[in-house]
Amino acid sequence: MSENQESGEKTNTSRNRRRNNYRRSRIKRSFPECPICHKSVKFLLTAMSVGEDNKPAHFDCVLKQVTDSEELGPKEKIIYIGNGNFAIINGKTGKDLSIRKTIQFEEKESNGEWRKKLSRNLKNR
Ligand SMILES: [Zn+2]
Repeated sequence: MSENQESGEKTNTSRNRRRNNYRRSRIKRSFPECPICHKSVKFLLTAMSVGEDNKPAHFDCVLKQVTDSEELGPKEKIIYIGNGNFAIINGKTGKDLSIRKTIQFEEKESNGEWRKKLSRNLKNR
């Protein structure tokens, strides 16, 4: 009986310590702020450059902004087609999806410093 209590205590202690470390490392790492929703952008790999100063923004926020700024037909939706481009497609299921309009959101040359740093880091690994 007393053995069980002891091991229970041990588990609690290590759990507390782990939580403290986690909290400390979270404070240390500062994430850039999304210019659209003003929350921190934790995953730069899926972020997109926004605005003149190319701030990283959540992909979901950018998608929402693009969707809100376009007039979509009842069967149309916006998808990401790569290289900073979105496309309005008609949402028919099956093989005959057609693109009505492409929207270039990100200029390839206008990547912010965060993206350059990110690709440098990826290359180093
Ligand atoms: Zn956001």
